[in-house]
Amino acid sequence: MRIEPCKICANQDFEYLYQGCDRLHYLPGEFKLYRCSGCGLILVYPQLRDQELSKYYPQDYYSYENSHRVAPPRSLKEKLVYFLLHPFQALNCLFYSKLLGQNRDLKCGLGSRVLDIGCGDGRYLLEKRSLGCQCFGNDIGEKALNRLREKVPEIETRCGNLWDVDFSQNFFDVINMSHVIEHVRDMDKLLIEARRIVKDDGLLRIQVPNAASVSFAIFGKFWMPLDVPRHVYTFSFPNLKRMFRDNGFEIVHARTVEGSFSVIGSIFYVVASLFKKEIPLMRHERIWDSEIIKLLFFPYAFVVNLLRVGDTAEFILRKAAK
Ligand SMILES: [Zn+2]
Repeated sequence: MRIEPCKICANQDFEYLYQGCDRLHYLPGEFKLYRCSGCGLILVYPQLRDQELSKYYPQDYYSYENSHRVAPPRSLKEKLVYFLLHPFQALNCLFYSKLLGQNRDLKCGLGSRVLDIGCGDGRYLLEKRSLGCQCFGNDIGEKALNRLREKVPEIETRCGNLWDVDFSQNFFDVINMSHVIEHVRDMDKLLIEARRIVKDDGLLRIQVPNAASVSFAIFGKFWMPLDVPRHVYTFSFPNLKRMFRDNGFEIVHARTVEGSFSVIGSIFYVVASLFKKEIPLMRHERIWDSEIIKLLFFPYAFVVNLLRVGDTAEFILRKAAK
């Protein structure tokens, strides 16, 4: 099939990978996935127009749902009580957060300007706000933004594509973009705009699924982060590096931060397919959010992240000197 040249390496040769469908919400439609033989970029082709794609973001899409996580304990006494009441959760916190540094984030001082692109219901920003940062949110989901505005009117939110919402140039100390790029057809446009609005000494933190991972090799078309058709592109560690550099960024730090969620999700997809049943993953929070199961997955997460073949790539970027 004739596909337009790859947006990362300009190669014109693509191999057919799989037929995919929406395994998260079971919305109708079959989609073909292709892989660039030059850089490994995976894409859904033919691409859906914005209006068609928006049908695949139902109101219960998980980043739009109200977050109800409890604030982590701070004092020693609080930590002790927490450990006694929630031993598995406390162990996971110790292993995933402390040992693997999964929640390690950019340092944001008092008054730092922080933008979260794809902020959903604002869970990232609420935490930054509690540290005294000046917070800004951007998303295409109007309802989630309205909920955030009602909850915390001081957080400035702008609805629409980043390049249409007109933030000031050289404005932000920190920009967070967690699981956003893979949803955007014109990723260069997004990166160019992010580069324009971040300060010269500011930083970008980007998390994105990584197809150069053990779990993609294991699960193939059942790999949860393919998330057909919402993920227009599926990247991998090497082509991400190339794309960031080509868009004028310098890589400060790169690693993988796989947890347990997507492996559990992928197992759900395999089981659903074997039994030819619809098993809506998000309604089984007791399984995918089970602290015992997370604990069981820790050795796997530890090894794949150590070898940088985890299923989520994390990059810290700053503007490269021109
Ligand atoms: Zn390519």
